[in-house]
Amino acid sequence: MIARDEDGTFSKWAWPGGYPVYHLCADYEPMCADCANDPANPIEVAEGEERMHTGDEQWTLIASEVNWEDAHLYCSHCNQRIESAYAEPEEKPMQGIKFSFDDETLFDGFAAGGTWNGFDNVKVTPQVAAQIDLHFREMAKRGGYGYNDEDDISRIPVGDDGLIDLSGGYATSIITDEEE
Ligand SMILES: [Zn+2]
Repeated sequence: MIARDEDGTFSKWAWPGGYPVYHLCADYEPMCADCANDPANPIEVAEGEERMHTGDEQWTLIASEVNWEDAHLYCSHCNQRIESAYAEPEEKPMQGIKFSFDDETLFDGFAAGGTWNGFDNVKVTPQVAAQIDLHFREMAKRGGYGYNDEDDISRIPVGDDGLIDLSGGYATSIITDEEE
């Protein structure tokens, strides 16, 4: 079976699931969907018995496969790497940590990597930012000192990753990580 999308083009992704698909040629080499769909290529399709009567094997599609876990699968024509479902060299997910502002109250955050003046750089969710602001407001109230709205870290713009970056400006120390 050669996988095709509704518009007739050779699939790049399998549905459901969105798994990366490549196409197998009669010479048993993989071909990426981009090459299969490139009108400049002399693509032929041979399924079932037709496989035995193929013309140019390297351009004849005989099957489609999902690339489950080959991180080093390359199109035999354009050399483009064919994505895999499970073996991608993923970006390392950010590590969940607990941190404090040099006092005893711990907050949930993420290690942003690196340090600033000896403090650990962390990122927090907007929810945690609001908790932190509340914490400092209470501390200020108890300590009898002033607190300005401008000090609120929830005013820091949220980044593309949905987190507020406290790197390079706050006395944040990572206390533990959550994976024991
Ligand atoms: Zn290709």
